[in-house]
Amino acid sequence: MPDRTAAPPTPRLFRHADGITAVDTEYVHPGHAAAHIVQHGGRAAFVDVGTNDSVPHLLAALEVLGIARESVDYLLLTHVHLDHAGGAGRLMRQLPNATAVLHPRGAPHMMDPARLIAGSQAVYGEERFRQLYGDILPIAAERVQVTRDGDMLSLAGRELEILHTPGHALHHQVFVDRAHACIFTGDTFGLSYRELDSPRGAFIIPTTTPTQFDPEQLIASIDRLLSYSPEAMYLMHFSRVTDVPRLGASLKGQIRELARIAEQAAAAPDRSQAIRAGMGELWRELAERHGCPVSPERLLTFLEGDLELNTQGLIAWLDRRRA
Ligand SMILES: [Zn+2]
Repeated sequence: MPDRTAAPPTPRLFRHADGITAVDTEYVHPGHAAAHIVQHGGRAAFVDVGTNDSVPHLLAALEVLGIARESVDYLLLTHVHLDHAGGAGRLMRQLPNATAVLHPRGAPHMMDPARLIAGSQAVYGEERFRQLYGDILPIAAERVQVTRDGDMLSLAGRELEILHTPGHALHHQVFVDRAHACIFTGDTFGLSYRELDSPRGAFIIPTTTPTQFDPEQLIASIDRLLSYSPEAMYLMHFSRVTDVPRLGASLKGQIRELARIAEQAAAAPDRSQAIRAGMGELWRELAERHGCPVSPERLLTFLEGDLELNTQGLIAWLDRRRA
């Protein structure tokens, strides 16, 4: 937990067009995860918020941007994985007028986080969980708005369309800002770290995190996002990407390839090791072809956390299919 008596941190901000600002949530390391603030007509919304430790950075960002805490209308939460929504309960206590907007499968877990905590501890272990996430505070039911697929939401007249996008998780939704040709994608449109940009543009990888990853659903959700022909996607990891058709094609190709690698590894003596090796090989090859400015060794060290989570998610998928 951050020391509350300490001076407010200096938030790392990335200002984009159309009143959109990314705030580094300082999760794991800088450049790993970004919450977004959307400003419109004197009102504001957060899209995803990060963890409890992100909250001081988000409040400091409001201050830098000149947004009163009373002016925040929404916490738009793409899904309830804790790197996205773990700090939501704490942040809500600081934003008197905010409503948390949640997928119907995610909402119950934010109002009563016990199962969410248990599930996350199963992935990370108890000690690492405490380090990463701290105490998850619930959100009062009367401050939660549960969505339906296709709902429209208005931020001071700025229309956002909500799409339910299973594949990464069953409780995943995205927010489409048609007027500004962009979509806030959470984890549906993969991960794209700015350190791996090359002269060819962004490098992207899918996230197949446990326990609900499903390749067919994820590909269908990505196709649905692509059907809006957005100019930009805003990812949690890490913020704005353009060149959307190329990235979409790469994501879909990788998801198919990872599913194939997992299926091939299903009979291996050590599935985890076989999947991880296949994924590492795939990423090395793609990164080299793309001209990513890191050595193959450095690439896999940099992506170690994603290799690990993706491997666990692919194994969970294999086991679910067998059951
Ligand atoms: Zn996630």
